[in-house]
Amino acid sequence: MQIKRRNFFKLAAVGAGSVVISPRPTRAERKKAGDSFACLVDTSRCIGCRKCEQACNEINNLPEPARRFDDLTVFDSARRPDARRFTVVNRYHSGRIDDAGLLVADYVKIQCMHCLDPSCASACVTGALSKHDNGAVHYDVSKCIGCRYCMMACPFEIPAYEYHNPLTPRVMKCNFCEEQFTRQHKAPACATICPTEAITFGKRTTLLQLAKKRLAKYPARYEQHIYGEHEAGGTAWLYLARVPFKKLGFLTLPSNPLPRLSELIQHSLFSYLWSPALLFALLGGIMYRNRAKNDSGEGHKQSGGVS
Ligand code: SF4
Ligand code: SF4
Ligand code: SF4
Repeated sequence: MQIKRRNFFKLAAVGAGSVVISPRPTRAERKKAGDSFACLVDTSRCIGCRKCEQACNEINNLPEPARRFDDLTVFDSARRPDARRFTVVNRYHSGRIDDAGLLVADYVKIQCMHCLDPSCASACVTGALSKHDNGAVHYDVSKCIGCRYCMMACPFEIPAYEYHNPLTPRVMKCNFCEEQFTRQHKAPACATICPTEAITFGKRTTLLQLAKKRLAKYPARYEQHIYGEHEAGGTAWLYLARVPFKKLGFLTLPSNPLPRLSELIQHSLFSYLWSPALLFALLGGIMYRNRAKNDSGEGHKQSGGVS
């Protein structure tokens, strides 16, 4: 049953629990995605050229940015992906110095992590977000009712909403260039363009082996941690870094998949006629608490404030 947005809000307004939850892949099915496609981002190789941002903008026909892609003053403040940009690169100064004693910057590209067990999909009551076997967390606009539970549920705060588009707003996030590799057998545009091969595309198990080889071969170069191997139940985007991930703005997350929480809420509270507004507030409270916890931790200091 397809739920029309107008009908959904009518139901929400009266607190009715009669919204039909469409079938989504089971947890076991989503687990199979563990050996699907992935990307390894080696932040020690990233030079902050922003070519990945440009390639992403072009392949997704996103709007022209306010500042050109060769304008490196964007690094003066931290940025987030939003409805007009699916990926951004930020600069961090962690205190690392080079052989000449100069302060060295680290650059980190961020986008949807394409979680193995995505809480955005778990929170989505209509199945508009789903984990594909190939690794991508896919968004189907035709099923989206605009409730934005996915935005509340995502531990990485990735999905954005087209508030500027009142007639046909969509949830916007990196789509993993799924069509590139399923139809054209090409790597995602950002991985293809990267001049330093900071982004490697491949099967997740292969990339984990590659990451472990790099950690073993260059122990002094890397923090001995692969971010995304276990965080939030594991993610398709994996990261290596020279310094502790907290210093590069990465959230400290548990290794259990967060969907357990949102599924519990959705399948118990929601089915017992709790209003969607209450669920929205509850998820928002959880995200606020998580954010506050991370903010009070070791400062992922950047060269400016969040723009
Ligand atoms: S990072 Fe957020 S939006 Fe992306 S798959 Fe994970 S939960 Fe969903
Ligand atoms: S995978 Fe595609 S959509 Fe995602 S950040 Fe890279 S270029 Fe953009
Ligand atoms: S294209 Fe590669 S080197 Fe350039 S900013 Fe993106 S990840 Fe870094």
